[in-house]
Amino acid sequence: MGQMQEYNNEAEAALLHTYNRYQVVFDHGEGVHLYDIEGKSYLDFVSGIGVFALGYGNKEYNDAVKAQVDKILHTSNYYYNVPAIEAAKAVKKASGMDRVFFTNSGAEAVEGAIKTARKYAYLKDGRTDHEIIAMEHSFHGRTMGALSVTGKKAYREAFEPMIGNIRFAEYNDIESVKALVNEKTCAILMETVQGEGGIYPGQESFLKEVRALCDEKDILLIFDEIQCGMGRTGEYYAWQRYGVKPDVMTTAKALGCGVPVGAFLMTEKVGQHSLVAGDHGTTYGGNPLAGAAIVEVFRQFEDKKVLENVRRVGAYLYKKLDEIAAAQTDVVEHRGVGLIQGLEFDHPVAEIINKALDKGLVLINAGTNIIRFLPPLVITEADVDAMLEILKECL
Ligand SMILES: *Cc1c(COP(=O)(O)O)cnc(C)c1O
Repeated sequence: MGQMQEYNNEAEAALLHTYNRYQVVFDHGEGVHLYDIEGKSYLDFVSGIGVFALGYGNKEYNDAVKAQVDKILHTSNYYYNVPAIEAAKAVKKASGMDRVFFTNSGAEAVEGAIKTARKYAYLKDGRTDHEIIAMEHSFHGRTMGALSVTGKKAYREAFEPMIGNIRFAEYNDIESVKALVNEKTCAILMETVQGEGGIYPGQESFLKEVRALCDEKDILLIFDEIQCGMGRTGEYYAWQRYGVKPDVMTTAKALGCGVPVGAFLMTEKVGQHSLVAGDHGTTYGGNPLAGAAIVEVFRQFEDKKVLENVRRVGAYLYKKLDEIAAAQTDVVEHRGVGLIQGLEFDHPVAEIINKALDKGLVLINAGTNIIRFLPPLVITEADVDAMLEILKECL
């Protein structure tokens, strides 16, 4: 039995089986390539589900994190620390939002956003039965609050009851949203580009109409930018493509590029009328290690002109996947923007993904029939060509 198989067996004996894992044990990475423990190289078009935006073996990033490890890892949110202050300034600047709360994960950021919206509405009218409108086919995380607003019944059902008063509208369908709004509605929550649900970009008209609706009724608009944010669409945050600014926003995944971090942010108005001392907290969130990682991520985004790269290579990938969609009779649709794109087939894609892995290309699905393309944001046109060569062999 090979060593890889041995590890696979050990993993299956020890880890809770909450994932059907691919039969590969990754060891290290270099640029846009991963290497398994037997030294086989893989071109990475998943980036750890949109996390490792800056490429593997990134010396400056590693050095920044190591320097902070040697200095101090953790104090407490009862005290200030410089990396967190610098990180807050950087994420504020990138997003144009005003107030930041750092978390350890995306799901926690969603929890914070939900609490913010409920508190904001509570301070206005004193009610304790506020409703949140979320979207069908959305994904917001696995904790109970985040799960409650996730628009996939199969994820929720066994864990009922959810937190109460969540309504689901159809994404990109303003009438379905309007039909659910009432005097109890405190927030409308959505991904700006739906990720797990199948790579559906929010349409400009829809986002603008939801924004107008929220303005009219003083309802908070919450954008979950955990997957589609941090440069993935060619802007720091996907809503910046259309200038439809949310009141509250979540970010995570590529925000830390490997160190587990997340954040929810809000406008000054919401910050002044929602959570106060005692309302919310976290032990690890925004600790110096997390702060140092975030600061270095933003530094490299600017230094390497990552957004420009995403726009250029993203457009190239779009053109190339369009060609595949035209040539393949089993492709139903090609969707996406920047470096978050999807190819929907009229059949499950697991076999294609397994074949690709065999041939040294890491891909992932989004739903049963959709291949999701979520490469590191520093890929080049040549990497896209290399990916396509393998993909074509697998189709
Ligand atoms: C991944 C993801 C989450 C959950 O983030 P975790 O860090 O896994 O908790 C929430 N929302 C969206 C859109 C995501 O893609």
